[in-house]
Amino acid sequence: MGNLISLRRARLCYQTPEAEVEAVGDVSFDLREREFVALVGPSGCGKSTLLGVIAGLENLTEGTVTVCGQPVTGPSPHIALMPQRDQLMEWRTIEDNALLGLQVSRRADRAHREHVEMLLARYGLAEFARKHPSQLSGGMRQRSALIRTLATDPDILLLDEPFSALDYQTRLQVSADIWQIIRREGKAALLVTHDIAEAVSMADRIVVLSRRPARVKAILDMGELRPLPPLERREKAVFSQWFDRIWRELDDNQ
Ligand code: ADP
Ligand code: MG
Repeated sequence: MGNLISLRRARLCYQTPEAEVEAVGDVSFDLREREFVALVGPSGCGKSTLLGVIAGLENLTEGTVTVCGQPVTGPSPHIALMPQRDQLMEWRTIEDNALLGLQVSRRADRAHREHVEMLLARYGLAEFARKHPSQLSGGMRQRSALIRTLATDPDILLLDEPFSALDYQTRLQVSADIWQIIRREGKAALLVTHDIAEAVSMADRIVVLSRRPARVKAILDMGELRPLPPLERREKAVFSQWFDRIWRELDDNQ
């Protein structure tokens, strides 16, 4: 089976009491198995809306969206969404936070619990399992949030600007950390960001979007950078070439 996500000529208009807002104009792209795709575009261009469409939370006005070959009609167990802020619950321990998705979907059985324990141990969080989020660094919190997202064993992770609350140095480290975990767990990921360097450092392919209503300006394959982890990519000469190329694509005056 080829595409995990297929979006074709997607268009979405929000109806508000005052007006109709065209958030997405015309967007087509695919996400393949184990692939990491980044959606890059200006603030307000419709990126989160597209994730909402794929997550089954918003309906397209025109066009089609399929997940694992099936038209999207609502939330799917194949997909997990990691939101902009980590949204860990302060009154729950790290372990209980990690189990939250499973409890909500009534799948907190022994096998799933053991899977969560294994993930916490594999990614260095076992000793923090009984601590509360406020006792962890920003990076550790983000890793905990990712493990909660992985707990339901989805095929596809949707990441909506997951590092935007972190300072620059932490952000570099955490993005490398998250990239490694997603790779190791064999997941496909769709990352929304307005940070070009973040996209180039993490993605296999980059979909460059226009201003609202989003249209696809270019789809770029990172080629030789694909196997390299984020911090190594940033050292390569081609890194800044990709950065400049995407910068120019985003610039409307060209
Ligand atoms: P991005 O994530 O790229 O910053 P969004 O997808 O959040 O952009 O929003 C795209 C546009 O749609 C924005 O102009 C936003 O104000 C508008 N929008 C988002 N959600 C709604 C909604 N529920 N109702 C009406 N307009 C919305
Ligand atoms: Mg957004």
